[in-house]
Amino acid sequence: MLYRVEPRLLPKVLIAGLLYFALAAITITLTSNGNDIATLWPANAVLVALMLLAPRQTWRSILVAGFLANIAANVVTRNSIIGPALFGISNMVEVFIVAWGLHAAISKDGILRRPTSLWRFLFWAGLAGPACSSVLGAATAWIAFDQPFMTAMITWYIADSLGLIVFAPFFFALFRGDFIHCFRSRTAIERWETLALQGLVLATTIGVFQVNHLPILFLVPLPIMLVTFRRGWLGTKMAVMIVAIVVTVSTVRGSGPIMLADMGDLPQVFFSQFYLAALLMMQMPVAAALASRAELIEQLAKSEESVHVLAEQSDILMLTLDRSGQFTKVVGAAQRMIGKTEAELLGMSFEALAPATGEKLASAFKDVIADDSFDQAIEFIAPYNPRHWREAKFRVLEADQLANHEVVITVQDITDRKQREGELVAQAHVDDMTGLLNRAGFTDKAQRQIAHARDGDLYLVMIDVDRFKLINDNLGHASGDAVLTAIAQQMKSHLRSDDTIGRLGGDEFAIILSHVDKDQAYEACNRLVASVAKTPVALSKDKSVNVNISCGMARWHRGENLEKLKHNADMALYEAKRRGRNTAVSA
Ligand code: GH3
Ligand code: MG
Repeated sequence: MLYRVEPRLLPKVLIAGLLYFALAAITITLTSNGNDIATLWPANAVLVALMLLAPRQTWRSILVAGFLANIAANVVTRNSIIGPALFGISNMVEVFIVAWGLHAAISKDGILRRPTSLWRFLFWAGLAGPACSSVLGAATAWIAFDQPFMTAMITWYIADSLGLIVFAPFFFALFRGDFIHCFRSRTAIERWETLALQGLVLATTIGVFQVNHLPILFLVPLPIMLVTFRRGWLGTKMAVMIVAIVVTVSTVRGSGPIMLADMGDLPQVFFSQFYLAALLMMQMPVAAALASRAELIEQLAKSEESVHVLAEQSDILMLTLDRSGQFTKVVGAAQRMIGKTEAELLGMSFEALAPATGEKLASAFKDVIADDSFDQAIEFIAPYNPRHWREAKFRVLEADQLANHEVVITVQDITDRKQREGELVAQAHVDDMTGLLNRAGFTDKAQRQIAHARDGDLYLVMIDVDRFKLINDNLGHASGDAVLTAIAQQMKSHLRSDDTIGRLGGDEFAIILSHVDKDQAYEACNRLVASVAKTPVALSKDKSVNVNISCGMARWHRGENLEKLKHNADMALYEAKRRGRNTAVSA
């Protein structure tokens, strides 16, 4: 023979051939009298399942093996040669059509994973493939075995479509290793349960089909349902196959409730086939729907897990609370974000948190509950690290129409944002030209110092450059700026680091001297006045200018605000100017 099979494919081709031969021979022996057509034809399902699991290049070899096995089985059981060859061709045409119709969608969906793939499967395996082959097969039965064409065609069609629908999913799962994989993943108890359930299906079906005088066909679906719900689609495939075998063999042998309808052999066989088809139609959608639900649940679990990972890695915490304020779900870095673990929070309320944080969150929660449309965001300091900031955002989730709302709080780390905000505020408080505090910055800091000062140990000094306008007018604005910068520099070098210095605007400066008595304050001012006076400001390499300043100082007394203190210092400064400038005066 010219046809060669690649050695790699040999095992598959051998399985295809041997299994096909065995199933075909058994089926013909059990369900045909040697001349007419078998009433259930599972052999083609072996080839379809193998082809759907194998690459396209192997299809030819599998079909050839099936064809030869088909001839062999027919020759052995029917003692004829022309008929078997034609039967073989009819069967392979069917197998090819079904495999071709299903193979494109198979990698995506599996053979029957979701309800949509059920219709595709029923069309190709239940209708298109068997319909084509039934015409060829019936013609063969008519020519080679002298059978009536129409009856042969109907028998063939039903036998093949049932055979494919019942057995193809089973063999597909078997060859893919689903049964072994599933069996291994089960516990011992579950394995025993599976065996018991399938045993129940077998026992019920055999029991029902022993009875010829009671119409108890309705009992068979019950254990199958049980299998479907307990073991899912894989269990159903197995159960339906067990039932199909028992029903077919029993009916052909004239036993079972179908015999109650006293209508002759062939109609009884047709009836048993319709019974099987009805059983399948009942189970398949349930199994497919269950399978897609299980898949959905798995997907949900996965997406929930990824939310956990995301939250854990990105410093986000999601707290879900019921209306009474109890934590019902905790997702994310709870310990890092609010200093408590998931276990410490679940079932607890805000009291589980550090008191300051808990009170803040509880009060915001109350507002949110009082007004569902109210979206709150509050900031708080991390309970275990005062340098870290958190922001909690509240959102009401409407779970259903019954006002059974939940509140979700998302907590995030806003330390960086807070730091940037702090830097911006600091920038807004600094005078660009001299680097000293500006009016806003000085006022802010002076007020804080006053709030913490003890009576009498704080002085405000107001300073103004003498005749500054002249410098501007004679030497130019840029020289004026250089003078202001030089004076600022002198102030910084003469004063203590905890003294507060600011430029309030123009040529006006201010200083807060804290923890000093009157003499010390006065001396500091005089020192500054003298130092400025004796230090000419260099404007260029060979040009400098002498400047003077006047100081007015005032002591702070309990109860005085900054405005009053400033007024007193201004009056002293005015007095210094009046006394001829270049001097310091105390209020
Ligand atoms: P007095 O001794 O009475 O203080 O006389 P003065 O000339 O210094 O008068 P006053 O303090 O009122 O003048 C302040 C001047 O400072 C007015 C303004 O032209 C000038 N000035 C204000 N801001 C700036 C600045 O940023 N740079 C410069 N170069 N000059 C400024
Ligand atoms: Mg001045």
